[in-house]
Amino acid sequence: MNITNLHKETAPVTEHAADNPGGMLPRARVQIRDIELGGDRFVVIAGPCAIESDTQIAETASLVSAHGAQVLRGGAFKARTSPYTFQGLGLEGVKLMRAAADAAGMPMITEVLSERDVEAMEPWVDAFQVGSRNMDNTALLKMLGDVRKPILLKRGFAATIKEWLLAAEYIIVGGNEQVVLCERGIRTFSNETRFTLDLAGALYARQETQLPVVIDPSHATGNPRLIPSLAAATLAAGLDGLMVEVHPDPAQALSDGEQALPPDLFRDMMELLSRLAPATGRFLHA
Ligand code: PEP
Ligand code: MN
Repeated sequence: MNITNLHKETAPVTEHAADNPGGMLPRARVQIRDIELGGDRFVVIAGPCAIESDTQIAETASLVSAHGAQVLRGGAFKARTSPYTFQGLGLEGVKLMRAAADAAGMPMITEVLSERDVEAMEPWVDAFQVGSRNMDNTALLKMLGDVRKPILLKRGFAATIKEWLLAAEYIIVGGNEQVVLCERGIRTFSNETRFTLDLAGALYARQETQLPVVIDPSHATGNPRLIPSLAAATLAAGLDGLMVEVHPDPAQALSDGEQALPPDLFRDMMELLSRLAPATGRFLHA
């Protein structure tokens, strides 16, 4: 299956649409356990930046599930900018998250930082996340081509669209077609938001590939007040879902607390999406 057409490296990217009258490739569906991305359902992946304790991840899982999120996120192996900040609970954190996800009846996704950890993590996770700082880690991408779990591939914050899609190709040519693309903001001269959300780039990636594309408005903005509207824009634009950071008590969070949605804002965001969904031909809940 040709998921991106970029194997035709000799042709410029802009010519690939000519292979697909109408510009769109048929959609691939990616299953994170029973949750399908790329179909009629707009999927909300939510949870804390980092797994901090059994009670924190369990409380977050039940709150995001109660408000209609379908997949639990949370980092156990953290790619922090500074080595002096919380680095995550590692495999112990993955196990705490597994228990919390099972208790809430949700599938879960967590970031893998190194190919060294793939084997140990695989039995515990429903999907792997590749972070922005690791998008071009080809050793990791090749290893993930060999696993039989879906991969959510974040765009590097300094990566072109083509580099991002070629990173996806590394996983796909390795034999794993279960890839979801995630745009999480790129670095620009605009400093009021943490990064700059490239919504048009995400739409372009969806047009040029078969892969589901989701948006992470948390890292893109660093500002919870901007997140509900960007979530609505993501749904209205016809993209496949969201990944958002939620914390039961953001002021106490060990990482990215300033951008985490508190429970009431998460609830408001989900209500906004529910009101909007009927107009978009998508539905939110099972
Ligand atoms: C995250 O999702 O917690 C994360 C570290 O995101 P990114 O890789 O996009 O910075
Ligand atoms: Mn984070």
